[in-house]
Amino acid sequence: MNAAAFVERGIAVDHNSDGNTVHWSKAAWWLYLTLAVVGATVYYFLPQGTLQSVVYWSFGFSSVAAILIGVRIHRCEHRRPWSLFAVGLALFAFADVAFDAPSVFGRDLVASHGPDVLYLAAYPILAAGMVALIRTHVRGEHLIGAIDGAIIALGVGVLAWVFVMAPYARDQTLTVADKTIAIAYPALDLVILAVLLHLVTNRRTSNVAFVLLVASVTTMLAADAIYVVLVAHGSYSGGSLVDFGWIASYALWGAAALHPSMSVITVTSTEAPRRDGAMIVPLTIAALAAPVVLIVQDRRGVNVEVALLAATAALEFLLVLTRMRIVARALMDARRDRARDDHMFRSLIQKSSDGVVLVSLDHVLQYASPAAQAIFGAGSTELVGHTFDTMIDPDGANAVVAAYDQVVAAGLGASATIESRIRHLDGSWRVVEAIVTNRLDDPDVGAIVANLRDVTERRALEARVHQQAYYDDLTGLANRTLFLDRVQNALRRHDRDVREIAVLFLDLDDFKTVNDSLGRPTGDLLLNAVAERLRRATRPGDTLARFGGDEFALLLEAGEMPGLAESVARRIVADFDAPFQVGDAELLVRASIGIAVGHAVDDSPEDLLRDADLAMFMAKHNGKGRFEIYRPVMHDEAMNRLRLAADLRRGIEEHEFEVFYQPTIHPHTRAIAGAEALVRWQHPIRGRIAPNEFIPAAESTGLIVALGRQVLVDACRRVQSWRTIGVVDDRFYISVNLSARQLNDPNVMNDVAHALAQSGLEPHALVLEVTESAVMENRDEAIERLNAFKQQGIRIAIDDFGTGYSSLSYLATLPADIVKIDKSFVDHVCDGPDGIAMVRSIIELTKTLGLTTVAEGVESEEQCVILDQLGCDALQGYFFARPIDATAMSAALVAHRSDAPWHPTSIPLISR
Ligand code: C2E
Ligand code: CA
Ligand code: CA
Repeated sequence: MNAAAFVERGIAVDHNSDGNTVHWSKAAWWLYLTLAVVGATVYYFLPQGTLQSVVYWSFGFSSVAAILIGVRIHRCEHRRPWSLFAVGLALFAFADVAFDAPSVFGRDLVASHGPDVLYLAAYPILAAGMVALIRTHVRGEHLIGAIDGAIIALGVGVLAWVFVMAPYARDQTLTVADKTIAIAYPALDLVILAVLLHLVTNRRTSNVAFVLLVASVTTMLAADAIYVVLVAHGSYSGGSLVDFGWIASYALWGAAALHPSMSVITVTSTEAPRRDGAMIVPLTIAALAAPVVLIVQDRRGVNVEVALLAATAALEFLLVLTRMRIVARALMDARRDRARDDHMFRSLIQKSSDGVVLVSLDHVLQYASPAAQAIFGAGSTELVGHTFDTMIDPDGANAVVAAYDQVVAAGLGASATIESRIRHLDGSWRVVEAIVTNRLDDPDVGAIVANLRDVTERRALEARVHQQAYYDDLTGLANRTLFLDRVQNALRRHDRDVREIAVLFLDLDDFKTVNDSLGRPTGDLLLNAVAERLRRATRPGDTLARFGGDEFALLLEAGEMPGLAESVARRIVADFDAPFQVGDAELLVRASIGIAVGHAVDDSPEDLLRDADLAMFMAKHNGKGRFEIYRPVMHDEAMNRLRLAADLRRGIEEHEFEVFYQPTIHPHTRAIAGAEALVRWQHPIRGRIAPNEFIPAAESTGLIVALGRQVLVDACRRVQSWRTIGVVDDRFYISVNLSARQLNDPNVMNDVAHALAQSGLEPHALVLEVTESAVMENRDEAIERLNAFKQQGIRIAIDDFGTGYSSLSYLATLPADIVKIDKSFVDHVCDGPDGIAMVRSIIELTKTLGLTTVAEGVESEEQCVILDQLGCDALQGYFFARPIDATAMSAALVAHRSDAPWHPTSIPLISR
């Protein structure tokens, strides 16, 4: 079995299992070489004859097979050189067969010069293949390589001509064909040699396949040369050393093709090879060959072809000149490119708005670009030669130096962003951001490069934005957001220990009087004076905040609580004994303080604040100008209601209430039918509060009347504005809740009329929602009022229907237009017949009475479908939208002109 066959078995494995593919394709080349050595040994011991010839032939053919296989298993993409090699070597192999044919087959296979013609035809093809291996993008490289090859080939050619070819040429016994062939061999060898040199000198790096290939060609050339000499002396016979040269050449060529690196053998070079030094000697020798031979032969008295040698010498001379020219031009080009790069780089640095400074290992500035000089406000002379340590803010200097030294230590390419204040020549401080990069070991730079940018303005802007988000405009103290944040952090920090923090809540007593009697500007001055006095009463670690109005808060994080908090509060109260100087006036203002103490385990910032607020309320309640520590008993109903009532009063006065809207939707078309107005309290301390927490108190204190008035006016105005701009049509209605207290208020008719008149809203766009129990409180009067509303065109809805008296027959006696089915029934419509029964009877009865129904608290598609089937007229619930503020509702209305279906996803799920 010869090597190729063996390798082909490798291919067979290749198809069977992937695991083996890698193994075989990686090992193929040395397997092939090993088999070649075995083959060569066999060849050596075999007697001359047919068998030996066959073994010899197998080398030629196996090298061709190796190439075909190599191209496939190594997925060679640039195949041209290898195809040419395969053809060339195949010609060799056939020539081998033809050469031995007379002795093996007893007759010539081809004409007498046949083998020679085949051999000779192979050379140019192999040479072409070798040229195809060279791919370079470097200017002039191709040409220089070719010229080098030509110079050396010409030099060797002179010697070959004089000592080898010329004797044939002059031999009178040879035919012209014989002479031609005899001369053609060395001549073509010279071509191969030239190409080989070109190839070798053109590569920067070499891989195994390349080395094997070069070894193969070299071996072939050597064997050819020896062969020519042997033939010249008539001493060549088959099986001699020369044959082993060719055998080795075949084997190395095949091995090259089987080596994995064969596929990257033509790697394109983009950089000039480093070869100039090494090439000088052979080039010089080659270029001098012709004149030297001329002189030597002349001295020896041998007849020489002076013209030929002189012409060769001249050609060599021209080649050398050409080469010099090309090299010189390439050098000039390179220099020009570099100069251009330098220039570009320089002008980039010069013109860039970012400053660039080069700094040495020991912090000394070596260069400062114009922009860098501008940042410092200094000229080059004031900067270069000085250490940067002296230029930066001493406060941050240590950090800067540490970061700098870290970049130095981290080595080439390490970089860091450093921010520091630097002293501008005009005396101001500038904030500079520097990207510092270690280029010390870069031969082109040899320094630390710092790209500087003046970020003073940007930082100032950021600080302003931050200031607005977290600080009170008037006093510069922290605002509520920042204060809560600090409390949260303090609680988190004390998560593990049991240490407590304290929140002090301070409210000026009777500040409103100051504001009302002396005017707002004076009030503001007073608040500033108070802030200043409080500031002096606190220590650095404490957070002092103003919540708006006359409310201040103080967070104490470190110390024994509540002892420390008490002493701080006592001191503040005492401080307020002295009058405040406001303009020309002296004002005596007292403050009430509430203290809440807590730790992470069971307190949230909001809880603490609420407790402190409650304690403060107690302080006021107990006589003002004093402090109280929160005790859980303060939380009891009565106290709370009292507190809430006081709060509500202020909230109504300060217009802290905002109306939210929740749409009602047609179950079938999913168009918007109307909206219910639901009030929210934007509490300055507690944040947004839901109605369930304050409506009962508002109701019991009677404050609901004033609050309800605000809601009515707001809601009517808003809807009228929607109608005016056309985002709703005139079928759209707004539902406003009226509590029992409101319904029974003698002024309610006036209030409603006033809201309608003020807004310009038509009565039929307004629905008033009342509960059965509200009506029951003062039945006759209530019904009379409701009838009066109806007469004006205002519709009445019975809210929470089914929860109160819920007597269906009783419904008939109420002057209602709409029945709102309570959420507790809607919740069960999906639970089967029992769940549906109640809703069905409400809807049926309502229809008989000529009323419409709205289902409340709809939370799923399934509920929608069932309610639609039951004949419900409108739906309301989180499934469509939560109550949203006026802005969000406006946006939603714009997006869904009244007849368009309502998509739940189009509404932001905000609010409660
Ligand atoms: P209500 O009149 O029965 O209003 C419906 C309540 O159900 C609203 O609670 C609404 O947010 C909530 N709701 C709506 N859809 C769903 C749902 O799918 N699932 C659930 N779980 N709840 C839903 P809200 O806004 O908290 O109001 C509570 C009550 O406070 C109202 O009940 C009403 O009685 C009263 N209220 C609200 N605003 C006013 C007002 O301006 N004046 C008066 N007098 N009372 C008001
Ligand atoms: Ca309602
Ligand atoms: Ca309701």
